Amino acid sequence: MVGAGLSGAVIGRTLAEAGHNVTVIDSRDHVAGNCHTARDPQTGVLVHVYGPHIFHTDDTEIWDYVNRFSRFIPYKNQVKSTTQGHVFSLPINLHTINQFYGKTMHPDEARAFIASQADSSITDPQTFEDQALAFVGPDLYEAFFKGYTQKQWGCDPTVLPASILRRLPVRFNYDDNYFFHTYQGMPEDGYTPLVTAILDHPRITVQLNTTFEAKDVGKWDHVFWSGSLDGFFGCNLGRLGYRTLDFEQFTYDGDYQGCAVMNYGDADVPHTRITEHKHFAPWEDHQGSVLYRETARDCGPNDTPYYPIRLVAEKALLADYVAAAKGTKNVTFVGRLGTYRYLDMDVTIREALDCAHDWQHAHTSDTPAPLFSKAPL
Ligand code: UDP
Repeated sequence: MVGAGLSGAVIGRTLAEAGHNVTVIDSRDHVAGNCHTARDPQTGVLVHVYGPHIFHTDDTEIWDYVNRFSRFIPYKNQVKSTTQGHVFSLPINLHTINQFYGKTMHPDEARAFIASQADSSITDPQTFEDQALAFVGPDLYEAFFKGYTQKQWGCDPTVLPASILRRLPVRFNYDDNYFFHTYQGMPEDGYTPLVTAILDHPRITVQLNTTFEAKDVGKWDHVFWSGSLDGFFGCNLGRLGYRTLDFEQFTYDGDYQGCAVMNYGDADVPHTRITEHKHFAPWEDHQGSVLYRETARDCGPNDTPYYPIRLVAEKALLADYVAAAKGTKNVTFVGRLGTYRYLDMDVTIREALDCAHDWQHAHTSDTPAPLFSKAPL
């Protein structure tokens, strides 16, 4: 198993429980991939080292699965946005709408008002911009989405797919829960202890600070690769485009912003958001504070890949790598990087469990082993 993130841990655990010996290799000095958490030695604050991760799902089996390995504390993600000189509540809800337009509308009035702002001629939005204009109209789009999205993705929202915006709800009540899932929470001691517990099985060996070379595939019965798909092939067909994030860390004595996540919607503010890590664990008490000022940029060869860009050119290259993957033997490409998809943690775990079961089924029958945890295209 190459990679000790969620995919690696969950597949490794499932196969270990089925009686296989599993070696989990990771080039980093810690498990948990990008959901790694670590205590800041000065303040004691639990830091989401690679940016904020909030667990949310509707999938009861996945919720039960993670709760097997860690206690989860209920957590409601309440995001704010600073834009055009004011602070607003996200996702766009009745409070946002009333505050933004200086009105006192009731839900039905706000719904009718937003419908009058929205562009009803857009019936089948394909791009992010069309989706936003059809959803909330130009004013809210400009204030909350346009600048943020340009900064986050490095391109104009007219070339981005509508699916990115469909992640966010618009509400005509005062519910400011960023997610609409039944189960939401944070692992009490962070994600790294959670993943450590998943990997804690007598048939699992973890090797950190270890780089896996694709030429070594033949030394193993089977390899699950959760690194980047193009990286497996040495990027010999070109590099799949990702956005990377830079976190400028700073500390504050006290409470800097009063919430965990403050987005910045204005295009002329370079950062997309500031996260104040102690607010991700409101059950803890810390005087000092650790914050990340987050900016996005194109991912270079030595940067950490975060968000797959998946525009037309990337999808064409992706098709070439999928074809290359079909030529490999005894390798399954898994997870966010292995399938080049924008994945939430619960979906990652669901796909990892399904992939492990499919592989186990193939192992005990004549069916072929899965090539991907989920088809990338
Ligand atoms: N987005 C935005 N303004 C915001 C928050 C999000 O325009 O204040 C857009 C942006 O394009 C982002 C997408 O909505 O990539 C999805 O947002 P989400 O908060 O789910 O992003 P993540 O936390 O995964 O980066």
